[in-house]
Amino acid sequence: MSETIKTDVLIIGAGPIGLFAVFELGLLDIKAHLVDILDKVGGQCAELYPEKPIYDIPGIPLITGHGLTGALMEQIKPFHPTFHLGEMVTALKKTGETAFHVGTDNGKIFECKVVVIAAGGGSFQPKRPPIAGIEPYEEKSVFYAVRKMESFRDKRLMIVGGGDSALDWTLNLQPIAKRLTLVHRRDEFRGAPDSVNKMRALVAAGDMDLVIGQVAALEGDGGQLTAASVKDKAGTHARIEVDAMLPFFGLTMKLGPVADWGLNLHENLIPVDTAAFETSEPGLFAIGDINSYAGKLKLILSGFHEAALMAQKAHRYIYPEKRLVFQYTTSSTSLQKKLGVA
Ligand SMILES: Cc1cc2nc3c(=O)[nH]c(=O)nc-3n(C[C@H](O)[C@H](O)[C@H](O)COP(=O)(O)OP(=O)(O)OC[C@H]3O[C@@H](n4cnc5c(N)ncnc54)[C@H](O)[C@@H]3O)c2cc1C
Repeated sequence: MSETIKTDVLIIGAGPIGLFAVFELGLLDIKAHLVDILDKVGGQCAELYPEKPIYDIPGIPLITGHGLTGALMEQIKPFHPTFHLGEMVTALKKTGETAFHVGTDNGKIFECKVVVIAAGGGSFQPKRPPIAGIEPYEEKSVFYAVRKMESFRDKRLMIVGGGDSALDWTLNLQPIAKRLTLVHRRDEFRGAPDSVNKMRALVAAGDMDLVIGQVAALEGDGGQLTAASVKDKAGTHARIEVDAMLPFFGLTMKLGPVADWGLNLHENLIPVDTAAFETSEPGLFAIGDINSYAGKLKLILSGFHEAALMAQKAHRYIYPEKRLVFQYTTSSTSLQKKLGVA
């Protein structure tokens, strides 16, 4: 079933630049929805280096990836953006002079006048584990993300991996699964110590199983798993009966569907003008790491600047009858009212 949502602007990607675009659009009374394939906001800052310090955000001598994401979320609060997380934009179609339909893999269709592609290095996609013959089971009984927890109720589940995702989903799904087995290649985990302790307590209480080894083979029929064989260091195989498997082997960045939208990509990047960071299609903008122009630097500060200029041009499409007066947040009471500080 598809769901149609009308909005002024649809932003593809909730990385730092997509988030800051909400602020610049909001100051000009433009509402935005954002879609991101990740289940959290912040893009590379949140997914690749949440704990690392960034030293080159103007006016902020040091902030972590996680800290910057949090600060941006605080800054855009007054504009109430709507987030659609855990969803991938798969289709982008021009339907009029400046009118677009944007579709997601979750059946949503956005109707909007302006589309801002802030897709960074592309979409984060799960790494496929090295298990021979896994493909026929994918999206039938092997899943790389949990969309609805309820679909795993009363199932025999196997979670594979040793990081935060594997541990978090172990703790979340254990209460509703018929039986849960966590499989990891060694008896040490990269996830948060608190999650590791909680998982070990469940194992000690006999409420779930922990198996050290690697999944070597799958059994099943028509995409439905029935069992997995786990090989330990000594080469001994254990056959474990399962209804579903959730491997969490990390994420990799791929350009993904952006490549299919007819954008005349240049080395996998979207060429834009530098007056408004607009593509050759009026109303279709590309900002942040995904765009390309002479002198481009893939820095967060460059993306922030691009977002500001994009918003000025987007205003023309959203409010063609209104003249845009340039204002400072320090001195404009009208802007301060929008920010809820006047
Ligand atoms: C280790 C590391 C350290 C860095 N240090 C610095 C630094 O010190 N200073 C600095 O300025 N920069 C730094 N950078 C670069 C900085 O992180 C990027 O410039 C910045 O993240 C770009 O932001 P963005 O919003 O354009 O893209 P991203 O952060 O890549 O976000 C894009 C988002 O779009 C989503 N997306 C993509 N395609 C789709 C789709 N089809 N549907 C839905 N969602 C989609 C992705 O899931 C992602 O969340 C660093 C990068 C790395 C990897």
